[in-house]
Amino acid sequence: MNIVQCQFCKKPFTSLGGRVCPACLEQIDKDFITVRDYIYEHKHSNIDLIAEETEVKKQVILHLLKEGRLIIDSPDGGGGGYLFCEMCKKSISTGRLCKECSGKVSSSMDKNISSHKHPTSSSDSSGPGIKGSAKIGGK
Ligand SMILES: [Zn+2]
Ligand SMILES: [Zn+2]
Repeated sequence: MNIVQCQFCKKPFTSLGGRVCPACLEQIDKDFITVRDYIYEHKHSNIDLIAEETEVKKQVILHLLKEGRLIIDSPDGGGGGYLFCEMCKKSISTGRLCKECSGKVSSSMDKNISSHKHPTSSSDSSGPGIKGSAKIGGK
């Protein structure tokens, strides 16, 4: 087990792999419901406005986007300038990588797994607590 600093409240806690403490995870789950319901009703694609009207921190909304629990659905298929691929810096709508880069990463990971490890332990990669996702609507 590791002691790490929570990326939201900066308190040290004992991590089982994540970078967010249990108290913040609980808050993020509540914030997720708030934001998701707000998006269903209002269809805004402006994160600043969503953050202002729901009083959910923008940092939390971006975290939910990176986890793939929220998706920005912008007309050009990009992320509206909020979220960028960690490899090529292209604007994306959800997650950490664009489709092209995640394709490259998973194909190189496949090679690593088959040459260095037994290809059996891939079941715990999706992480706990993901209960569906919501789209931040177009227009
Ligand atoms: Zn925390
Ligand atoms: Zn990319």
